[in-house]
Amino acid sequence: MPQQGLPPGNLTPHFTLHEFTASDTAAMRGINNTPTPAALAQLEQTAELMELVRAKCGANPVLISSGYRCPALNSAVGGASNSAHLYGCGADFTVPAFGSVLDVCHAIEPHLAEWGVDQLIYENAAWVHIGRAIPPSTTARHQCLTINSGGTYNGIVASVQPAEESATGGRHDRDQADDDVRPGRCRQGSGHEPEGV
Ligand SMILES: [Zn+2]
Repeated sequence: MPQQGLPPGNLTPHFTLHEFTASDTAAMRGINNTPTPAALAQLEQTAELMELVRAKCGANPVLISSGYRCPALNSAVGGASNSAHLYGCGADFTVPAFGSVLDVCHAIEPHLAEWGVDQLIYENAAWVHIGRAIPPSTTARHQCLTINSGGTYNGIVASVQPAEESATGGRHDRDQADDDVRPGRCRQGSGHEPEGV
C-alpha cells in the first residue's frame, strides 16, 4: 500500500507514479502504459528503493528515463523479453546534480545486498539501470554489470567506450541490453562477453 499522507500520484515522498510510467515512445505510438495492479505494487517497492538511491546521491533529483513498460511498450523499445521493467521492478535513471553515471554507479554498488538489488547496470555509459528481483522470484542476485556496444562486463568498467547513441541524451527508451543477462553469466571469465547481448 502507498505510504500515508503522500500527495496524490506519489508512490513515495520524492517519486510519482508518472515518473515511472511516462514514455515518449508510448505517447507517440498511443500505447497505454498504465501498470497492472501487480506492477503497481512492485512500483511502490521500486520507488522505495529509489528513495535509498536518492538519499545516497545527496538527496539530489533523480531523473528516471524509463520505469514501467507494459508489454506493448517493451516490445516497441526492443526491451529484453524478461526485462524487470515489464514487472515494475526496474528503473533507468541519472542523477546529474550528484555526478556522472559512473559516480552514481560507484555510490550504489556497495549497497546491493543491503538494499536487495537484483541488478545494477552501468549501461552505455549513459544511464544507470537498477532492478529488483522479478516475480515470482524474490531472490536478488546483487549483480553488478557494465553493458554497452562492446558487450557485457562484470562490475563497473569505466574504460570501455560508450555507445555512440548514448551521446544524444534525453529519454532513451531503448536499452535492449538491460536485463538480458542470464543468472550467473556475470561470473564468467574476465568479464568480457564476446557474443554481446
Ligand atoms: Zn533498464
